[in-house]
Amino acid sequence: MSIIVQKFGGTSVADATKLKAAARRAVSAQQEGHQVVVVVSARGHKTDELVSLAAEITDRPPPREMDMLLSTGEQESVALMAMAVHSLGVGSISFTGGQVGIVTDNSHTKARIQSISTDRMRKALDAGKIVIVAGFQGVDIEANITTLGRGGSDSTAAALAAVLRASRCEIYTDVEGVFTTDPRLVPAARKIERIAYDEMLELASLGAGVMHSRSIEFAKKYDVPLVVKPSQSDGSGTLIAAESDQVQRVVTGVALVKDTVRVTLADLPDRPGVMDQIFSRMAERKIPIDMVVQDASTDGRAEVSFTVPEEDLAEALTAAEQAVKELGAGKVRHGTNLSKVSAVGSGMRTHTGVAAQMFRTLADRGINIGLVTTSDIKISVLVDRDQAADAVRAVHEGFGLDQPETAPPGVGWRQQSTTGVHVVADAAAREREIVAQLAAMEDIVVSEVSLDASQSRVTLTRLPDVPGVASRIFEAVAEGGVMVDMIVQNVSHHGHTNISFTVPREDIDRCLLLVREVMEPWPEAELQHDRQIAKLSVAGIGLRSHTGVGERMFRALAESNVNVQLINTSEIRISAVVAIEQGEVAVKSLQQAFGLSASR
Ligand code: ASP
Ligand code: MG
Repeated sequence: MSIIVQKFGGTSVADATKLKAAARRAVSAQQEGHQVVVVVSARGHKTDELVSLAAEITDRPPPREMDMLLSTGEQESVALMAMAVHSLGVGSISFTGGQVGIVTDNSHTKARIQSISTDRMRKALDAGKIVIVAGFQGVDIEANITTLGRGGSDSTAAALAAVLRASRCEIYTDVEGVFTTDPRLVPAARKIERIAYDEMLELASLGAGVMHSRSIEFAKKYDVPLVVKPSQSDGSGTLIAAESDQVQRVVTGVALVKDTVRVTLADLPDRPGVMDQIFSRMAERKIPIDMVVQDASTDGRAEVSFTVPEEDLAEALTAAEQAVKELGAGKVRHGTNLSKVSAVGSGMRTHTGVAAQMFRTLADRGINIGLVTTSDIKISVLVDRDQAADAVRAVHEGFGLDQPETAPPGVGWRQQSTTGVHVVADAAAREREIVAQLAAMEDIVVSEVSLDASQSRVTLTRLPDVPGVASRIFEAVAEGGVMVDMIVQNVSHHGHTNISFTVPREDIDRCLLLVREVMEPWPEAELQHDRQIAKLSVAGIGLRSHTGVGERMFRALAESNVNVQLINTSEIRISAVVAIEQGEVAVKSLQQAFGLSASR
């Protein structure tokens, strides 16, 4: 018999009426012939109330006691939910996380799931009962109660669905589903019918975080379809599932990270080990790094920029000063009041001109772009915070996300339109193999370390730092039918900016002609290129929710004496460009660092 996991969030179980409505959903799923496991959060604002209560007593509550306290919110909900199901004449039994054998590590208040035993749940299910499990909690091996971090019930639900091999996991919430962007910001935002796991992970920051991103990681790892559904209506919600080969749109959603700041280290020595030094200093201080951009060095000096949350700026600057001191060279700068705007879509793997279109849309509104990073399914730009909302609206409209699904004009199909899809299928198979061997359920999975030696790098320096320059360049390249892969734009100095990107080697000459033509109005700009480069990338599940992946990557490259030329990051992938001669050494050192056997 198929199993369905249903998760109800705090607002969906806030009072007796809502609890009863949720119970009816569970019962009707059972009547449709499924075995049903229900996961619930604490009612309404219960968790917040408990947090404030603790804060009234002490500003440093012991984390173990915090977990003991917070876990009571969900315990209250499971008991009430079991009663509600019972009152409908259906057998049910409630369990705490510990009672169903959810074992976590011992990092209180942010524990990670290691294993779940299914015996007790299966026994109750086979006896015809609806099983109600407390979300957000588990126990460590010494039976101390732990919690998974705020919003963690989604992850409990996805993890239970994974171990029970449920046919789907339904997440009931107070919204209609996942939207193309935050509807509070853009009223024309539309509900997405279906979205791929990777797209959802890249959009992790979408709006107020519709879902705990670790739940998407679970779902992807164990291939559980997730459905985000409204609890108040019969809406169909949004299906989050494996990538479908029928790409409806090039861009699926637009995300905004409103408050971010940038740290730049300039005039750095251009040699192996420099990036390692910098990111180790950041990791030691547990500073969460987001967008990382390193562009091609000019005059033998390298420069790297990255964004961190506003509240970590002071700490990040101290760490950066320390790194510069140890390196014996470099200048630390920073920028505040910035926002990150990202366009995400699997269709980018197979379409040209997506970046050009995004840059054009922003330029038309007079919005200047700070940093640019890309992954195969995402383009992120940094803009001034006071232009961020306008940027989101413009990009959303520019890609036609306010319209019913049809491909927007101006974006062409890529020639070999199936290659990207094959890569995805290979990676998925490899992922499953690795997941089957994981020691703990929530361990990081690096499923892909790849070397692409088929591209060339183009770098433009001393470009004017005004809106419209990036769009002119990428429009010209796209019109020439050249597929751009990695794009990197670092911060500008003295009114000038640099842009680097990679293209297939067979297109480099054509690309250079196109670029030379377009740069005519910019007499100071200089064009450089490197015909043969090696692009390395590390991809997997958990890159963002586990810290230190970048650190491990740069450490491995430094130890193998590999100099990094360009860096680009996203939620699911870190890419670096190195000299072609160092490609093989570099990929081997990364495979070793991440415990992968040679596979290309
Ligand atoms: N009750 C917990 C919280 O408010 C867990 C959850 O709602 O998912 O963070
Ligand atoms: Mg929640």
